[in-house]
Amino acid sequence: MTIHASIVETIGNTPLVRLNHVAEDVRATIAVKIEYLNPGGSSKDRIAERIIDAAERSGQLKPGGVIVEPTSGNTGVGLALVAQQRGYRTIFTLPDKVSESKRAVLRAYGAEVVVTPTDAGPDDPRSYYQVAERLANTIPGAFRPNQYDNPNGPASHYATTGPEIWEAADHKVTHFVAGIGTGGTISGTGRYLKDVSDGAVKVIGADPEGSIYSAPSMDAVHQYDIEGVGEDFYPKAFDRTITDDIIKIDDHDAFLMTRRLAGEEGLLVGGSSGMAVAAAVRYARERDLDENQLVVVLMPDSGRSYLEKIFNDDWMRDHGYGDIVEATRRPSLAA
Ligand code: PMP
Repeated sequence: MTIHASIVETIGNTPLVRLNHVAEDVRATIAVKIEYLNPGGSSKDRIAERIIDAAERSGQLKPGGVIVEPTSGNTGVGLALVAQQRGYRTIFTLPDKVSESKRAVLRAYGAEVVVTPTDAGPDDPRSYYQVAERLANTIPGAFRPNQYDNPNGPASHYATTGPEIWEAADHKVTHFVAGIGTGGTISGTGRYLKDVSDGAVKVIGADPEGSIYSAPSMDAVHQYDIEGVGEDFYPKAFDRTITDDIIKIDDHDAFLMTRRLAGEEGLLVGGSSGMAVAAAVRYARERDLDENQLVVVLMPDSGRSYLEKIFNDDWMRDHGYGDIVEATRRPSLAA
């Protein structure tokens, strides 16, 4: 029988797929790990399951407990999905800039969504961080996963993502490339791959231009459009010793690659996936990686969450990416 006991059991074991078109001039093989095939649609399902498991074991989550977290995106979906199946309620605080469709996804899984003003800074009591803290401190049985500090985030990738890549690639992976948000993915997966290869696997971070991880100084830290990656502080989930290199990619190159992956590889993925692939291709070209190298790139989520942005031509033109719309357009056959 291969009937899973619940959807939670289907988290992980995502496929590796070779890229065939967007890196034609690269001799090394580039393979992507397709995390949008997790049941909640992203790699964050993995951390949600492990964080909840650990909180149950430590007694931080008890029957009737409530999970409270400031998150607008993938982590919320993962937590909502696992929590629902285990009988916990979830409350997510998020700034009002988060799209209605993202709020609808969380509510569909049964989560309660508390919307806060986007212009309230992290120290403002109305900010989504502060509101989450207050709710967690006042609601009986509340548990705050705190994905930026929680060691179970990287641990989930050490236990699952790393071994999956190592086995699927028949122990031949030479490079691992991933974006850095909390840093959990690259730290856990990277550490596993280094441990199992006696340090031979190189771990390459991909980072949006403007984020702290690739900025030469704090003066160079600024806003950018790619979502889910980059930070303006160093989270505990990021092991700063894990990366051999960090490649800086700007919004433009990330979004161009994101559109090409959908149009040429059949991979409808988010901007952080496009960024990671752009970094892998640039690295492979600059280092002249040859046929003996196998570069694995992690793609965190699906392009369906970005239909109103990266895949919307009007939004792209309004935000200065009109040339990408032109470059990825196919001539009409119907005209
Ligand atoms: N891409 C997307 C779309 C994400 O939501 C995240 C998580 N913030 C990441 C990449 C980065 O993953 P991590 O937090 O494990 O560094």
